[in-house]
Amino acid sequence: MTNSMRYADGDFDRAAECREDPEWLAARLAHDSSRVYPIWRHRFLFQEQRVPVALAPAAAGRLAGLEHSVLLGVIDDTAHFTIDVSTLSEDGLATAIAGAAHDLRDVAMNLSDRMAAMLAFGRGMSVWHVDHQFCGRCGGPTKIERAGHARRCLDKGCGRLHFPRTDPAVITLVIDGERCLLARRATIDIPRFSTVAGFVEPGETLEDAVRREVVEEVGVLTGAVMYRASQPWPFPSSLMMGFWARATSSAIKVDGEEIGEAAWFTRADIDRALAADEIILPPEDSISRRLVEDWRNLAEGTIIEGLE
Ligand SMILES: [Zn+2]
Repeated sequence: MTNSMRYADGDFDRAAECREDPEWLAARLAHDSSRVYPIWRHRFLFQEQRVPVALAPAAAGRLAGLEHSVLLGVIDDTAHFTIDVSTLSEDGLATAIAGAAHDLRDVAMNLSDRMAAMLAFGRGMSVWHVDHQFCGRCGGPTKIERAGHARRCLDKGCGRLHFPRTDPAVITLVIDGERCLLARRATIDIPRFSTVAGFVEPGETLEDAVRREVVEEVGVLTGAVMYRASQPWPFPSSLMMGFWARATSSAIKVDGEEIGEAAWFTRADIDRALAADEIILPPEDSISRRLVEDWRNLAEGTIIEGLE
């Protein structure tokens, strides 16, 4: 990896040891310097699409109970939290907070690496809390604990403690000599050509998942699989694990439902197609783009060690 990747470079202290320290939490939630980011229906608020709105705890507490806040971490001795204000109406939100609600993805490229990573963490936690109001085992209501990093089932006979979930997904650039495979999803009507991705199934290794997804989506067999990097992808709750894979067959057969079309591209093919506006590459904030760009940046004829 040559430079930073969105959501993945958060040099902030997650302060995990403080999550179960009620005195520390109470002090931080009473301190004016702490920052609380309101999150409304999974969107943060921003000024000019680049400055995230952060409130002092007292102001945040007037919008929602501070006991529902989630500790994101500590930067230079300042504690950062999110608080869900989704019960506000759209008008109520506009009245209460000066800023516009945006999905993180739409503004992430305007943020610092650290802020993008911290808000990605907050977004993933927000989705998890909303989706886990009830116990998956007994159906009883759950209650927030550990500064937002656990939920406990309130049913007396159950009491199960639930922790935040992340769904592992593999994302793969298939390589065949001096060309790579790019595919367009059937559900989008712009010519965005991307890598192949899918969720890891229970009982499956990452390598198995790569080979299965590639053959399912584009009909190509793959042999050697090389891990490249990972990226948190809280849209809504994935961890993307990026690979390059070596093709061992070349005939493409798309399923037509998930993937609309796919083709092999040399580096020159990509340059030409981009210049002619025939294709669009994956979004800049995505690991998919990184997998493609890292391969494009290799000189023609480069032996990729581990993939031969
Ligand atoms: Zn339960």
